[in-house]
Amino acid sequence: MRWTLKHIFPKDDPVQALRVRRFLIAAASYLMWIILIFQCYRMGFVRLTPEWMIFFFSLCVFINMLMFIILRTGLNLRFSDPSLTMLQMLIATLLVMITIYFTDHIRGVMLLAYIVTMLFGVFRFKLRQYIKYAGFSIISYTLVVILLLKHHPEQIDLRIEALQWAVFATVLAWFSIIGSYISNLRQKLLATNHDLKTALNTINALAIHDDLTQAYNRRHMFERLRHEKATADRGGPGFSIAIFDLDHFKEVNDTYGHQKGDDVLKFLIQAVKYEIREVDCVARYGGEEFVIIMGRTAAEGAQECAQRIQKAAAAMKFPGFPPSFGITISIGLTVYQPTESIDQIIARADEALFSAKAAGRNRVVIGNP
Ligand code: GH3
Ligand code: MG
Ligand code: MG
Repeated sequence: MRWTLKHIFPKDDPVQALRVRRFLIAAASYLMWIILIFQCYRMGFVRLTPEWMIFFFSLCVFINMLMFIILRTGLNLRFSDPSLTMLQMLIATLLVMITIYFTDHIRGVMLLAYIVTMLFGVFRFKLRQYIKYAGFSIISYTLVVILLLKHHPEQIDLRIEALQWAVFATVLAWFSIIGSYISNLRQKLLATNHDLKTALNTINALAIHDDLTQAYNRRHMFERLRHEKATADRGGPGFSIAIFDLDHFKEVNDTYGHQKGDDVLKFLIQAVKYEIREVDCVARYGGEEFVIIMGRTAAEGAQECAQRIQKAAAAMKFPGFPPSFGITISIGLTVYQPTESIDQIIARADEALFSAKAAGRNRVVIGNP
């Protein structure tokens, strides 16, 4: 099997992919740490036999491999924090503790590793977690100093150790405050981003829909027509359009009022949407005239669809109207002729609609080129 990026990052789960990316940053930090310790070892600052050094390095590799397997098998999702931030930081801290215990003279500078570990909390920690972690680090470091006092008292200058301890504790406390502040900002940014995305989706929907009927608006209709025309002109499947207009709609307004007329339009478009395929679209051309664009549809299919809609409209019952109330629609239908203009196809459908009205309404007329 050839290893590619998709074996490292889960391709269908962006959140898990992000966790893997963060893990890789942590793994790179381990690598950096191992190289530094190795250099210290070569210079004689590490009180360990070569066998123990190999064991220590193997342990780091093993931990990282284990973490990668946990992330890639999705085992991490069973934990309340699937990023396993605290766990990873605690393990790293224990490893740092071990190195600090075994590195003489340069123990002070080795404390910097705690800061690198702490940085990972920025992805997730609140102040309380930061304080917990800082507490754990300070206790672990105190423990190292006590152990050294017991087993290697020659390595300890209490005055320096006390000062080092105080600086370390202060830096960690400050880091907790600043780190949690950054983490907080990050959470807020994520929330704002989410709100913006939702707002953008709403704006996009508003920009292409007609307010009253929730059919597409004219602008979107022409966009769709241009797209269908381009596809057909490139030798792709053709399309058909149907223009329909409510019969004697003025009477509905005159009898029931304009608002009730609006209701009729709303209910009718709901019903029309139900009759067309998901890929087709119904758009408000103007007033009580609508256009249906039927992609990949030739005359026969389009006629069937138009007749279905015409019958459905005639059979509709409208809530809030007397049971005897009903409407009918007239439909002009036509098939796109390669290379003709959008105005031409619309004009032909319009003529067919006019003929349908003239022939007595409540019918479908096909406009032949
Ligand atoms: P026909 O089409 O059968 O010839 O007769 P009609 O009475 O429907 O005539 P026409 O299509 O010319 O009339 C359009 C009517 O539709 C007049 C207008 O007030 C009404 N109308 C257009 N847009 C709306 C709307 O958004 N809401 C309401 N309630 N009425 C509308
Ligand atoms: Mg009308
Ligand atoms: Mg009209």
